[in-house]
Formats: sequence, C-alpha cells, structure tokens
Amino acid sequence: MALEEYRKKRDFKKTPEPKGKIKKAKGNSFVVQMHDATNLHYDLRLEISGVLKSWAVPKGISMDPKIKRLAIETEDHPLDYGNFEGVIPEGYGAGTVMIWDKGKYENIKEKKEEGKGKMSMPESYSKGQIEVSLKGKKLKGNFALIKSKSPMFGKNAWLLIKMNDEFANKSIPNADKSAKSGKTMKQIEKGAGK
Ligand code: MN
Repeated sequence: MALEEYRKKRDFKKTPEPKGKIKKAKGNSFVVQMHDATNLHYDLRLEISGVLKSWAVPKGISMDPKIKRLAIETEDHPLDYGNFEGVIPEGYGAGTVMIWDKGKYENIKEKKEEGKGKMSMPESYSKGQIEVSLKGKKLKGNFALIKSKSPMFGKNAWLLIKMNDEFANKSIPNADKSAKSGKTMKQIEKGAGK
C-alpha cells in the first residue's frame, strides 16, 4: 500500500527514478536529497517499516535549536530512492536531485513513562513525535520532527528542530556538494545528458 501514491505520480518509462519495492528489513537509514524542482527544497527521508517516510523541507535543515523548519510530509518513497541522484525529466518532480546527506539514524525517543525504554519508530511516526540522532556525513546529532497541530499549516505539516547537544549551531560541511559523488548540482545536471 505504502508505495501506491509514489508510483501513481511517476511514469517509469520516462523517469530514471527507481520503481522500488517494499523491503522487510528493519533498517535505519536516512537520506536528505537536495531537489531543484519548481522551488529548491530538501527532502528528508527516514527508513521506517521498509519504506522511506518523506518530508519536503523548503528552507533546508538548520543546526540552530531556536529555529523550527516547516517539513511537509510527502508520499512514502522506496528504499532504493535513497541512492538516487540525477535529473528527473519533465513531469512529476522535474529537476535535479542531489544526495545531500546520507547515513544511519538512531531512534532516541523515550516512552512517556520513565524507564520504559524507547518508543518504536512506527509509533513515534504515528504519534507525530519523532526524535532521532543522525549519523550522516553532514548532519550529526539529535533532531526532533514534530507533527504540527496548527490548522494554519494543513494536515501534512511537521516541524523539524535541532535538539540541543554538542552539534547544535555547528556549521554544515560541504553544504553545496553531494555526499555520494562530491558533485555540485550543476555537475549532476551536466552528467545526466542523454
Ligand atoms: Mn522533492
């Protein structure tokens, strides 16, 4: 069920994006893709229950705990989307995609009752209260993703907030280069020629 919307939106005869399948493995990967579509934005994706749960972050990720970034939930993506870097042709999501950062996350969300251990990722997701420690090439440390209850933003709105830790307010290295290939957006665009 989780990938229906993803597949419906795309014509796989035209786009190099993966068709993907749902994996059973309980992995903990994450990826952030820079996506120069109609508006440049960042797509944060966390592996949960065999798919990449996805949020579009228009302003990108801030390392400042005082800043809350709007993160709009989008359709689930297949796990192999985490390896996709390239150019999406005319159609849905047209534009260049860079693997801006990737790595593993650790679930750090504690259950409400003290000493009861961690809340599972699917539960954190369904409650709209995700807390993860990111171990990427660029992003490090703890982040919270909280579902917004404000009707102003609509039902898919979450807030992405850097939590206070030793990585807070650190600058992000190589912010304009791919974590996969080292390429810039321009170089990815050029390399995609057919
Ligand atoms: Mn996108």
